[in-house]
Amino acid sequence: MVPIVDIQNYSFQYLISDQPALKNIDLQLEEGRFYSLIGPNGSGKTTLANAIRGFVPKFHVGDDQGDVYVFGQNMKDLELSDLADKIGFVFQNPFTQMSGSKNTVFEEIAFGLENLGLPVDEIIEKVNQIIYEADIEELRDKNPLELSGGQQQRVALAAVLVMEQPLMVIDEPTSQLDPQSTEDIFKMIEKVKKRGTTVLLIEHKIDQIAEFSDEVIVMDQGEIKLQGSPAEVFQSPLLKEIDVTIPTPAKLSLELYDHGIDFTDVPITIDDLCQQIV
Ligand code: ADP
Repeated sequence: MVPIVDIQNYSFQYLISDQPALKNIDLQLEEGRFYSLIGPNGSGKTTLANAIRGFVPKFHVGDDQGDVYVFGQNMKDLELSDLADKIGFVFQNPFTQMSGSKNTVFEEIAFGLENLGLPVDEIIEKVNQIIYEADIEELRDKNPLELSGGQQQRVALAAVLVMEQPLMVIDEPTSQLDPQSTEDIFKMIEKVKKRGTTVLLIEHKIDQIAEFSDEVIVMDQGEIKLQGSPAEVFQSPLLKEIDVTIPTPAKLSLELYDHGIDFTDVPITIDDLCQQIV
């Protein structure tokens, strides 16, 4: 199967910088899988996400930067508009995603579909469906700009979901949210996963990553240092050299080990932990 994103020996350096933000990246994202991208601040996560959605310059003068293929096409041959129906993007700050010109959440979510020129009946049906799925009926007639940050992020996510693009890139959607809103967003992300959409999620919330991800990709200093299932990555000794936290069940098992309680496998999720305690 052809991967929907295929990055080959790709490097990128910002114009005003003395070192590359991405170094020799090789990465394939396969259809229907849920990937989480983790790593310390400044390790290159957002730059990599931007390379996938075509938001970095296509060419470097006098430099062989490698290639990014999206849905089988080289990014160098694509325009941003070619990707609009293929990649949905959710930002850290939902405010930047709001059109700013819509009176209601319903209209905000309908905006992208209207731009595609879909028939009105179809737009209404799709928007109603997504409002139901996202569990945001109570926000339907509210002004998007008057919502809380958490509510805005749910609307922003719904406005992307309604477009049904096959790849979603979600960049730290909960970094500015309180715990309840974070939980609401993760409930929505779980639904995205169940739809079979391919997802690349940049996140620091390790416990949720361990629960959701098919694969975890760890970046450090512009390079991919580790990639594998949550169990493979969070049990890897290589992780000790990188400034990322491990899931709470794994941390707990290490502390219990110091008290003479030995786990057969390092538990990564709460389920793993419970199974081993029983
Ligand atoms: P992360 O998302 O992991 O925090 P980034 O991709 O934002 O990392 O940044 C990777 C590196 O590129 C960092 O050293 C950062 O300072 C640098 N960088 C990011 N954006 C720019 C920019 N617009 N111009 C110059 N350097 C940048």
